[in-house]
Amino acid sequence: MRVVVHVLARWSGAIFVLVREVNNVLLETKLAQLPAGLASRQLRDRVNHADDRMLFRINPYAFAEEAGVPADRAIELLLRASALGLVRVEWSLVCRGCGECAASHFKLSELASTFHCAACATDRMTNLHKQVEVGFTVHPEIRALRYAHPESLELEDFFFGYKFSSNILVRGEGVRLVDYLRTHTQILTRLAPGGRATADVVLEEGWVVGSPRAKLTVIGARVSDTREVELVFDGRAFEPRPTIAPGPVRISVRNDSANPLPVLLYFTPIVTYFDYVPLLSGQRLLNTDDFRRYLGTEVVRPGTGIPTRDNTLLFSDLSGSTAIYDRIGDAAAFELVSAHFESLARMVTRHSGVVVKTIGDALMASFSHPADAVRAALEMGDALVGLTEPLSLKIGIHRGDCLVVNIRDSVDYFGQMVNVAARVQSCARAGDVCLTAAVHDDPEVLELLKPFGDIPAERHLLRGIGDEQVVYRLRPA
Ligand SMILES: [Zn+2]
Repeated sequence: MRVVVHVLARWSGAIFVLVREVNNVLLETKLAQLPAGLASRQLRDRVNHADDRMLFRINPYAFAEEAGVPADRAIELLLRASALGLVRVEWSLVCRGCGECAASHFKLSELASTFHCAACATDRMTNLHKQVEVGFTVHPEIRALRYAHPESLELEDFFFGYKFSSNILVRGEGVRLVDYLRTHTQILTRLAPGGRATADVVLEEGWVVGSPRAKLTVIGARVSDTREVELVFDGRAFEPRPTIAPGPVRISVRNDSANPLPVLLYFTPIVTYFDYVPLLSGQRLLNTDDFRRYLGTEVVRPGTGIPTRDNTLLFSDLSGSTAIYDRIGDAAAFELVSAHFESLARMVTRHSGVVVKTIGDALMASFSHPADAVRAALEMGDALVGLTEPLSLKIGIHRGDCLVVNIRDSVDYFGQMVNVAARVQSCARAGDVCLTAAVHDDPEVLELLKPFGDIPAERHLLRGIGDEQVVYRLRPA
């Protein structure tokens, strides 16, 4: 048996034979269904000519930049292309501890509330805001990608193209994590069951960590003698996890499991923080109107709650509508209320939010940023100007952590944060916009509220909510 330990310097000489087979008839049929001016030409070029890597988990923000179009246009294009089966939405669960994509799914309903990162040997919460990165992968019927078969990928493609998220930057280094890993690789190899590989390395103070899980803590006074370290994979992690002094080390890795094993060991300073390039989080996607419009059947599995952090919810209620039903009759009142909802929905969408549902005269909307919700709320009052009937809105906004759930086969929200948002709305009198402190104290919201001068903080005990809530009341002119 021959085991090859790849060394970075040799990669540059690697020769790849690329075979691109594009189903042009199908591609053109689907592209023809997309409206002109939506960067579909750039998508066609990419599918026809780009390397597989560029068609696998496409980051819509990077695509937008390359195509020279606004990001929301690129997101709309890719969502419409998903609905047509030209690309597929890929929900990747990325571990914020190590940067590995622990799992990815083509359906929202395949997400569970937790996932397991084998590299960190830890269960993590599926947080749509922080852990779920959405990319778009070309449909296999259009073009088969080698990433569809990760087990047969070249090792560098497996780890730096497939396994680790390419959206992560190493703070202070100004480089992508995948590029950083390339230059800090100690061992990169594929071990057959029972296989073994050895590499001579000179370790600096820090950590050598691995995928799958391995860890050498390098600390103390440098030594000049070469030490021998053997790490054995038992099917779960490499053991032992020794502490050794900096200096030359001969590291052996052995695969005692029954399966072939790609191995990456890399050096990292003891503290490494991550930053992120602009990316489409699961939360942001769910707050995109185009997602509901084109992929409205995509829902969370019934009975499952997927956590999302720092989501903003807006509740509105139409004040004075009951009297109008009496005066102008049900049919005319219904038309009026329907027109009102349509107008509110346009404002929600314009400010990067999404209407979750309407109940009677009330509306619930969701946003990724509190300032967007406040902007929408301030505009909503205008929607009623000019009506012959004396109607006004009562609006409440709150932000926080909640669960994304499936209610009547639709994406909805659940949790105490949702209750608080609804109750804050009930604090509003006709024409008011009531904000909780969490919304009010956001720096961008404070900037928006400057024209309102000093807004006094009110304290309210809300029905069903234990703690008193601080509420700020806006009375738009
Ligand atoms: Zn991890």
